[in-house]
Amino acid sequence: MADCIFCKIALGEIPCAKIYEDDLVLSFLDINPINPGHTLVLPKKHYTTLLEIDPDVLEACVLASQKIAKAIYTGVKADGLNFLQNNFRAAGQLIDHVHFHLIPRYENDGFLTAWPGRQYPSGEMESTLKKIVAEL
Ligand code: 5GP
Ligand code: ZN
Repeated sequence: MADCIFCKIALGEIPCAKIYEDDLVLSFLDINPINPGHTLVLPKKHYTTLLEIDPDVLEACVLASQKIAKAIYTGVKADGLNFLQNNFRAAGQLIDHVHFHLIPRYENDGFLTAWPGRQYPSGEMESTLKKIVAEL
């Protein structure tokens, strides 16, 4: 993809602080970290979101992420770690090249302090379940 910044990084046209690389996967430090060590993991090939990434490439990204997560957690002496992935603008995706965030976390670091879960109104859990299962 000509105008994709992560494709340019994968091609070596834009520099990055590289953490890990193999045939399918690249990983580097996020330029604006939530905490130091915040890392991105992505396929070298361009896919826009989780919904269309090739399953073999996804597998490679997730396995690499586990390996890198252990290195981050230990390396920066984190108290916790988030593995996050945003798809489409409504979910906060800013770069349209699928990527996974590995974010080292510390007690009271102020990120994601609220998880505003709500109860389903009566009957909505069942109707929602039906809509999703029908698509599988
Ligand atoms: P998204 O919101 O798309 O899930 O996250 C995009 C992430 O990419 C952001 O956390 C942002 O800081 C990071 N980012 C954007 N441009 C660059 C860049 O040129 N280099 C690096 N290393 N990270 C970037
Ligand atoms: Zn791309």
